[in-house]
Amino acid sequence: MSDLFDLKDKTIVITGGGGVLCSTMALALAEAGAKIAVLDLIEAAAAKIADQINSAGGRAITVKCNVLDKASLQTALEKINAELGKIDILINGAGGNKKEATTSPDLSFFDLPSEALQFVFNLNFIGTLLPSQVFGKEMAESGGGIILNISSMCAFSPLTKIPGYSAAKAAVSNFTQWLAVHVNQNYSKDIRVNAIAPGFFLTEQNRFLLTDEKTGKLTARGKTIIDHTPMGRFGQPEELIGTAMWLLSDAAKFVTGIVVPVDGGFSAFSGV
Ligand code: NAD
Repeated sequence: MSDLFDLKDKTIVITGGGGVLCSTMALALAEAGAKIAVLDLIEAAAAKIADQINSAGGRAITVKCNVLDKASLQTALEKINAELGKIDILINGAGGNKKEATTSPDLSFFDLPSEALQFVFNLNFIGTLLPSQVFGKEMAESGGGIILNISSMCAFSPLTKIPGYSAAKAAVSNFTQWLAVHVNQNYSKDIRVNAIAPGFFLTEQNRFLLTDEKTGKLTARGKTIIDHTPMGRFGQPEELIGTAMWLLSDAAKFVTGIVVPVDGGFSAFSGV
């Protein structure tokens, strides 16, 4: 059974690998024996994770990279090929929202600046598409590979306040299906493309939207989320690992074009 989930010596590229959710995945995949290229716009964030992997006896490299810049991705590809070999797996983890693209009592929908909306849309959608072009091309040429995108609950039903992020993640889920079909039809039957849609995980990015900075208690938005999560709590980053290992290994050999919610039941609950 353990061979089914074997990731030993696979070369895995993780964009946004210095962030909360993807660094947790990077550490777990390294522990499973994979070689990890930790890509992040913030070099120090990526280096911290790569150092942690290497000092625990694993193999990782730091790659400063902007997922919105094809030249930067191309340079990253060359470095990864030279230091870790051919890429087997890509995890498109870089993403996020921005305050200026979020409605609030001080910022109405009608005043959301187009630059902020464009930034969020690009980071999440174009920032998934461009790495899939650059690293996916190598998979198409070698005839095999796996891509894992990170979508969100807001792809299924939009969340209040965040129209740009919701639209971008819906585009990520849609693109996951599109690319899964495209690569099988045009390049290889051995390339799989799937996505994970995490529910609500407390991270630095959303901590103070969901909990009060001073008291640590839930905000009204945080309480609404917990009330709509049948399991009654936020997720822990470690709880994405099992689903990621399933989708990235032979255990999911006939699985492509799906978006898996890891959400404590949030997407199953109508609220009634
Ligand atoms: P995070 O902010 O901790 O990590 C994101 C990482 O991406 C950061 O290290 C950041 O430096 C990097 N990054 C940003 N712009 C980049 C660029 N242009 N090029 C390269 N790297 C860039 O966020 P997180 O909460 O760990 O989220 C990881 C992914 O999961 C994101 O796609 C996010 O949208 C998604 N997600 C998060 C949650 C949640 O509850 N935290 C829920 C659903 C989906």
